[in-house]
Amino acid sequence: MKKLLSFILTICTLSLCACSSSSPFSTTVDDIAESIDEFTIDLDFELDKNLYAPIVNASERVTVKPFGIFVTPTSSPVSPEVFYGYHTGADFEIFPEEENQDVSIYSICTGPLILKRFATGYGGVIVQSCSINNEKITVVYGHLKLNSISTEVNQTLIEGQYIGLLGNGYSEETDNERKHLHLGIHKGDEINILGYVQSEEQLSEWINPMEILQN
Ligand SMILES: [Zn+2]
Repeated sequence: MKKLLSFILTICTLSLCACSSSSPFSTTVDDIAESIDEFTIDLDFELDKNLYAPIVNASERVTVKPFGIFVTPTSSPVSPEVFYGYHTGADFEIFPEEENQDVSIYSICTGPLILKRFATGYGGVIVQSCSINNEKITVVYGHLKLNSISTEVNQTLIEGQYIGLLGNGYSEETDNERKHLHLGIHKGDEINILGYVQSEEQLSEWINPMEILQN
């Protein structure tokens, strides 16, 4: 569908080009072709829901802290709240019956694990390096039970591959957060595990996972 749309768009805009090239417009055909290219790439990106969901029923779980929400300790959908700033990822909540069950997390793309450790605010956290639309991204999976993850740093995770389990709520495994998955997608290949940032400019370095995950 995406390819078809892009194709139709390209055909339509190419015929526009053909018209304008014979008109006395100051814009050159090259200028227009360049802007078409950019537009087509943006459109592809918007429609590319190619990444695997990290958890079953993913789209039903982002109910408390979506990407980009601004929270403070006194205004947050979560209580108690220890964070302040714009949320750089999407939080996938557990269903009530999962509080005492194992909840599996899966790789959203294919690429190597580049970090696996305990971090304040997360408990267990891993970072994976991947590419989407030929652009490098790093993926942060937060609040995991580290000893359930057999993949080591530099080993590749295949899209859809089982990674490990969510950490237990209000324990060291989640650094005392509720049981949930924080998924962040950062542009570029630098490791960045910030869960919150202090400006919209910094937030623009992050991608809303819900825009590129399969439903
Ligand atoms: Zn989060």
